[in-house]
Amino acid sequence: MTEKISVEKKVLSENDKLAADIRGQLKQRGLVALNFVSSPGSGKTSLLEKTLSALKHELRVGLIAGDVQTENDANRLKAAGGTIVQPIVTGGACHLDAKMITRVLPEIALDKIDLLLIENVGNLVCPSSYDLGEDMKVVLISTTEGDDKPLKYPGMFRRSSVMVINKIDLLGTSDFDMKRVKENARRINSELKVFEVSCRTGQGLDAWFHWLKSLVAAQH
Ligand code: MG
Ligand code: ZN
Repeated sequence: MTEKISVEKKVLSENDKLAADIRGQLKQRGLVALNFVSSPGSGKTSLLEKTLSALKHELRVGLIAGDVQTENDANRLKAAGGTIVQPIVTGGACHLDAKMITRVLPEIALDKIDLLLIENVGNLVCPSSYDLGEDMKVVLISTTEGDDKPLKYPGMFRRSSVMVINKIDLLGTSDFDMKRVKENARRINSELKVFEVSCRTGQGLDAWFHWLKSLVAAQH
């Protein structure tokens, strides 16, 4: 057991070194980088599609789309107007790590973007442990999931700066309680910034776009 823990620690400290190097490269260029995490099906790709379509004329966005087996998400993001989209197929691994980002970063013209959006693998457990050099983690949860997710996966909610609650158009069709999910999340992380959106109807997305633009503007 002790040996297993020390191996894990070593892997994570190597990851942290690479992540620090990535963060340095991004900072040097004044780039904002966000790492999107959630369970499968919460709507990470949908949120990124909407974000790209809405902001492609105002912001230069680069995307890294992580997936276990396919490039489907990367293809969706290209179709949504993404011109700089880099897929990472992890081949079974359930999270992205800094080494994978280091490998694809040279493919992205960092001097041609303002914002780097990274779609992690759909999993609320280990992506919380792997720093990718991002400024913030954005955790998505949808109203079709349990409102106790923040309590079940506290590490993810503690390490995220923003929580996006998606599929609010479906509120009332399940036992999901908006007030309770926010209370649960803020019990884990009182500083979480919260957005309530529906990627399907577009409800609430303007506030999200506005926040992203202000984040980028603050870097310039
Ligand atoms: Mg996806
Ligand atoms: Zn994993």
